[in-house]
Amino acid sequence: MTAERLSLDDPYTVPTQHWHALADGRVQCDVCPRACRLHEGQRGLCFVRGRVADQVVLTSYGRSSGFCVDPIEKKPLNHFLPGSSVLSFGTAGCNLACRFCQNWDISKSREIDTLSQAASPEALAATAQRLGCRSVAFTYNDPVIFMEYAVDVADACHELGIRTVAVSVGYMNPAPRAEFYRHMDAANIDLKAFTDAFYEKVTFARLPVVLDTLEFLAHSDVWFEITTLVIPGHNDADAEIAAECEWLVEHLGPDVPLHFTAFHPDFKMRDVPATPPDTLRRARRIALASGLRYVYTGNVHDPDGQTTTCPGCGAAVAVRDWYVIEAYELGDDGRCRHCGTPLPGRFDGPAGTWGSRRLPVRLGRAGAGSPH
Ligand code: SF4
Repeated sequence: MTAERLSLDDPYTVPTQHWHALADGRVQCDVCPRACRLHEGQRGLCFVRGRVADQVVLTSYGRSSGFCVDPIEKKPLNHFLPGSSVLSFGTAGCNLACRFCQNWDISKSREIDTLSQAASPEALAATAQRLGCRSVAFTYNDPVIFMEYAVDVADACHELGIRTVAVSVGYMNPAPRAEFYRHMDAANIDLKAFTDAFYEKVTFARLPVVLDTLEFLAHSDVWFEITTLVIPGHNDADAEIAAECEWLVEHLGPDVPLHFTAFHPDFKMRDVPATPPDTLRRARRIALASGLRYVYTGNVHDPDGQTTTCPGCGAAVAVRDWYVIEAYELGDDGRCRHCGTPLPGRFDGPAGTWGSRRLPVRLGRAGAGSPH
């Protein structure tokens, strides 16, 4: 997949909807606020969308960087079908350019090898069903840039009773966002920091767009949780964490789960140390004090920070260690077994028993057939 070979004859290239022509002859992609303005043959910043035959196309429909069965807690989602397994996959490219990217081999890849697996939406949904996964997650890179493929996969999954999860940075324009989330059951949104200066300098994006997405989701049927990757010296000040949590309580309510996860040095930020577990615990204390009820630490062993507590009686209703549920005291409908208080989330039956396993899956080799 190279910039020179953009062509509608490519079986993985499909037309898209969210774009318009400009008076100067360029076409503008309207999926995200990057607003890439493209000449014929050019690709957008995300690399997977580009212009061919005077329209914006998606060049990675039906191609993946890999498939893996994960615990749903790894997305991370702690209040969505707990303990179940999820078939995760991603493509290539990203519409952000985070200096601390933890998946840069995928998100910044321009190599055909990254997209070496092929899967039609129907094949993907059937694979999830065969493997006993209760959901499929669009993850590793941001699904907004391959939304046409993600939406078709979601529809195929729903036909089989399999739910869909978007892991996203929430950097998307309102019209495509509304269309995309009509097809999603759950989401985890990265809230990378709580200053516009950080977003502009470190991710080359804007904070207000992400906050808009969070407010949009709060008024939708999509179950969503939020993740903040805590980076020492960059977004870990008490005042910033407090401001973030106060905004979440005020605009989304106290029931939205928030995950503070540990940074490890990567990509262009190798000079920054890994996040000490105590920093995550401090962030969690600040969040709980601000009124959020479900605050978790991630990427560390911290049973306290990974336990869900009933807001009614204070019982520990889901005790976790990393991705493993060690004790579970919720009924099939998500009510506390001790006092009957319903926990927020999507609960449907007993907790799953997938544990912390990670199972790589091969579907097909790209180039071996048409994805349509
Ligand atoms: S989705 Fe990609 S091509 Fe479209 S505006 Fe965003 S970065 Fe540019």
